[in-house]
Amino acid sequence: MSIPKRPKLVVGNWKMNGLRGDLSELTAIGEIASASARVEVAFAMPAPLIHQAARAVPGLQIGAQDIHPEPGGAFTGGVSAAMVRDAGGCFTLVGHSERRLGCGETDAMVQAKAVAARRGGLNAILCVGEDATARDLGQAESVVGSQLEASLPSASDAARLSIAYEPIWAIGSGDTPSLAEIARIHATIRQACVRRLGETGRTVRLLYGGSATAANASQILALADVDGVLVGGASLRAATFAPIVRAAIAWATD
Ligand code: PEP
Repeated sequence: MSIPKRPKLVVGNWKMNGLRGDLSELTAIGEIASASARVEVAFAMPAPLIHQAARAVPGLQIGAQDIHPEPGGAFTGGVSAAMVRDAGGCFTLVGHSERRLGCGETDAMVQAKAVAARRGGLNAILCVGEDATARDLGQAESVVGSQLEASLPSASDAARLSIAYEPIWAIGSGDTPSLAEIARIHATIRQACVRRLGETGRTVRLLYGGSATAANASQILALADVDGVLVGGASLRAATFAPIVRAAIAWATD
């Protein structure tokens, strides 16, 4: 008996890029995504663009790049899960390495954000990944394992959770781990999901992120425990993102 494929999830992360005039880049992607029921396409947008992106482009999931762990109150600059939902967003990234490193986010804070996402009705994409030093020391799996142990809420709803493996040294660098390395770490993450969440851990979607492009997406997406990709730089323009979405569609219709 063949195991049904988990639908692929292709996520763009615009980071701190883009103005309203750039939303036209999403239109062509929305059209491609609408034509396939077996691939989901999402964009983690800068907060001010969430509302307009969600209204303007059918066929895409629109979400945030971060949320505050509290539901509301005196947190200047914070954006709550409820605010993202109210703006039309349906998911958020949590624990992106640029927030862990640049904003001092700890695993405990990332876990609190994942809990807040669930309470606020948002899907969460929890990001983990080792730095170059840990990789060179052969510690990628142990770093990722301990990040997951400390940041994955045990009451997670597997259907509303994805985990993105994003080696920090691969982000924006043009370098990627070998396919064997990606496969090995994803298998480790899958085991951790099953250990923490039981059999439903098999349904959590595992994404690879870090210099994913049209040139490597097909091979990465074909790996056993890779259920999608998280894409930064190449997601900013339809010309570079569309081939990645098409690679996922080609895999899904194989
Ligand atoms: C990211 O920051 O999530 C990312 C994957 O970036 P890039 O694709 O540019 O490496």
